[in-house]
Amino acid sequence: MRLTVIGCSGSFPGPDSPSSCYLAEAEGFRLVIDMGNGALGVLQRYAELFGIDAICVSHLHADHCVDVGSYWIARQFAPDGPQPRIPVYGPPGTAGRVQPHLGSDSAELAYVPFDFRDLTPAVSQIGPFRVTTDHMNHPVETFGFRLEHAGRRLAYSADTGESSALVRLAEGADVLLCEASFTDRADNPPNLHLTARQAGEHATRAGAGQLVLTHLVPWNDRDRSLSEAAAAYHGPLSLATCGLVLEG
Ligand SMILES: [Zn+2]
Repeated sequence: MRLTVIGCSGSFPGPDSPSSCYLAEAEGFRLVIDMGNGALGVLQRYAELFGIDAICVSHLHADHCVDVGSYWIARQFAPDGPQPRIPVYGPPGTAGRVQPHLGSDSAELAYVPFDFRDLTPAVSQIGPFRVTTDHMNHPVETFGFRLEHAGRRLAYSADTGESSALVRLAEGADVLLCEASFTDRADNPPNLHLTARQAGEHATRAGAGQLVLTHLVPWNDRDRSLSEAAAAYHGPLSLATCGLVLEG
């Protein structure tokens, strides 16, 4: 399994990265996890525009889902005709959230290039990946993911406050891709996001083999995030960057 960070900017795009988007590949299958603002542009550096086989959306905040709507336009109005439907897994309401407002009810415009499927906490098979999903601790329904393929395990927190479900998803994972939206402050709101230190604590509790901090908000000091996480996690630790490849 190979995972490419397409976007790792938290909450809104930054100067060096789109919002959340990750490309997981195995056996020629391409699964995109999250598609935040700006992700579709950078995604084309790493995959053919119509080479995506499935999409998972963790939750319906704009920085995780709005470019599914951009991709809808691309697949619907492709010069060779509408592209075949691919599955989009997301919380209930994903279709309505990402649907373009085209202002017409003609048959051509009514074509939907996606097969929307509601996520639930479950274990399922998506292409070659065994995918475990569970609810995270965030103000809207949000799913974290554990991907397994050929004995390798990768977990992704999506957006979450402190969460025992995240520790379970990341149990023994080779890589935990964990959000670190906050730095240590007394006034961080609860049940919304993790600090870098809390990301480190979750990785330690899960016994994760490697921690990669992501959902990095542009106004944060990245070196500070890294050092705060390092105080709580003593394994290999790094910051996600646009284009980073994690081999599993
Ligand atoms: Zn969110």
